[in-house]
Amino acid sequence: MVTLTSSLGTTWIEYNLLPRLTTKAHTPDAVSLKTPLVKYTVGEKPELCLNIPFTSAAMQAVTGYEMGISLAREGGLGFVNCSQPIEAEADNVQRVKDFKAGFVLSKANLAPGNTLENVLNLTEKTGYSTIPITADGRNGSELLGIITKNDFWRGYDAPDTPVDRLMTPFSSLAYGLEGITISEANAILRKHKKSCIPIVDSQDEKRLKYLVFKKDRDHHKEFPLELIDGNKRLLVGAAINSKDFRERVPAVLEAGADVLVVDTSDGYSEYVADALGWVKANYPDVKIGAGNVVEQEGFRYLAEHGADFVKVGIGGGSICSTQEVKGIGRGQVSAVMDVVAARDRYCNEKGIYIPVCSDGGLMQDSHITMALAFGADFVMMGRYFARFEESPTEKKLIEGIGLAKPYWGEATDRAKNWQRYHLGGKEGLSFEEGIDGWVPYAGQLSEGVRKSLAVMRSTMCNLGCLTIDELHRNAIVERRSPASITEGKPHDIMMNRDNLWKYSQMSWGA
Ligand code: IMP
Repeated sequence: MVTLTSSLGTTWIEYNLLPRLTTKAHTPDAVSLKTPLVKYTVGEKPELCLNIPFTSAAMQAVTGYEMGISLAREGGLGFVNCSQPIEAEADNVQRVKDFKAGFVLSKANLAPGNTLENVLNLTEKTGYSTIPITADGRNGSELLGIITKNDFWRGYDAPDTPVDRLMTPFSSLAYGLEGITISEANAILRKHKKSCIPIVDSQDEKRLKYLVFKKDRDHHKEFPLELIDGNKRLLVGAAINSKDFRERVPAVLEAGADVLVVDTSDGYSEYVADALGWVKANYPDVKIGAGNVVEQEGFRYLAEHGADFVKVGIGGGSICSTQEVKGIGRGQVSAVMDVVAARDRYCNEKGIYIPVCSDGGLMQDSHITMALAFGADFVMMGRYFARFEESPTEKKLIEGIGLAKPYWGEATDRAKNWQRYHLGGKEGLSFEEGIDGWVPYAGQLSEGVRKSLAVMRSTMCNLGCLTIDELHRNAIVERRSPASITEGKPHDIMMNRDNLWKYSQMSWGA
C-alpha cells in the first residue's frame, strides 16, 4: 500500500517572517552574511566559508568563468557547469583562477588570414573595438598586432583588405610582460598615452595573455567581500556528474577548482554515492558536496557517503518541469525544514556540521533570507544569475519582453545536446524535465547582488539578527492564509507600464 505522509508540501510564499527587537546595534553594516560552505567538526573552523550565502547554479545558461569571477568578487561562489566537455569546464575553472583584477582576457581575436570585413562583423557582434591579431586567432598564441578603429577608414579601405596590412604590428605596440602589477600596467598606459595595452608572456614568444584597458581604471570598484584563497586567487567550484567523474575530476582539480559538487536532479542514488566514494578515496582532501535531496533519508545517505555539503530541492526550479512530468518533488520549505532537521540530528550525534544549500525556486530577495531563516546555510540560484551580463549567454531584444537573456534547464534537449555531439550518447534525450525560455536582462551582477544584500541586511535588522547563525536560532516564521497572501501584495492600486515594470523588479523581473 502506498505511504501517504501527513505533511503538506509548502513553499516560500506561504510564510512571513515576524519582526523581533531591533536594537541600536542592529545596523545593516554590522550584519555578517559569512557562512560555512563545507562540513566541520563542532568547535573547529570550517575549511571553506562563503562571505555571502550565494552560489550560482551549475547550468549552461548560468555559470561560466565570467559568472565565477564576478560572483567570487562579491563574496559568493560560482559552480561551473559540467554539461560541457571536460576540457571546456577545466578551461572555465582555470580562467577564474587566473583572473587578475584589471587584466582582461580578450574575447574578440582574429588571425592573419582574416579581412577588414571580419573585423567589422566581429565588432558589430561583440561590441569590442580592440581586436588582437594572433597567429591562430586565439588567446595564448603569438601576438602579431592589434586593430582598432584608428587603423582603418570605413568606405576607403576595401572590405577584403587583409588584417595584417591594417593592424599596428607588434613592433610598434606598447605592451607589458606577464607578471607585472596593475599599477605597472597603468604606468605603461599613461606613459604611451594609450587606451589599451596587451600583456604577453615574454619578449621572444610574444604570446597574448591579457589586455589592460584605461577605461577599466575609471570603473574601479571596491570588493571588500572578495572570496579568495591563500594565494589571493578567486575561489571557484566545479560541478561533476555521476558518469564521467573519473576523467572530469582530475581535469577540473588540475585547473584549480576549490570545491566540487555532484550535480544530479535526484541525489539519493547509488550513482552519487559511487562518485562521492571515488573522489574521497582518490582525493581525500578535496571538498565535495552532493544533491539534490528533499528529505531526511536522502540527507543521511549523502552524509554517510562523505558529502561535505548537501543540496536540497527537487521540482521547485523556475525552469523545472519535474513535478509536472514525473510527479516527483516537494515544496521547497518542507524540503529544507526536513533536511535541516536531519542535519541538526546528525550534528548532535556525530559532532559534525554539514552545511545545507537550498537550491532553486527562489523568486525574490525575501525568499533568500527566508531560506536562511528556515535553516539553510546558503542558497543556489539559477534564474537570479541568468539575468546578469556575466551569464554565458547573449542578450537580445525580444518582442513583448524587452531586453532579455535566454535561460534553459539542464534537463532540456538544448542542454543535453553537448553530450550528443561530444560523447555520442543519446541518454536522457527521449523526454525533457525542464523548459527553455527568457529572463529579463538585469545589467551587471555586482549591482544586482549588492541590492539583494542590502534588502537582506535590512531584513536581518528587523529580525534582530546580526549573523546567519542567529537567524537560524531566533527567526520566527508564520504560515499565511490565502487572504493574507493577497493582502501582502500591493493592492487596490492601478498601475501603468512603468509602475508594473518597477513592481516586477521585486520578483527579479517575473
Ligand atoms: P532557479 O533558481 O529557480 O532558476 O532554479 C535553478 C535550479 O533548478 C538548479 O540549480 C537545479 O537544481 C534545477 N534545475 C536546473 N535545470 C533543471 C531542469 O532542466 N529541470 C529541473 N530542474 C532543473
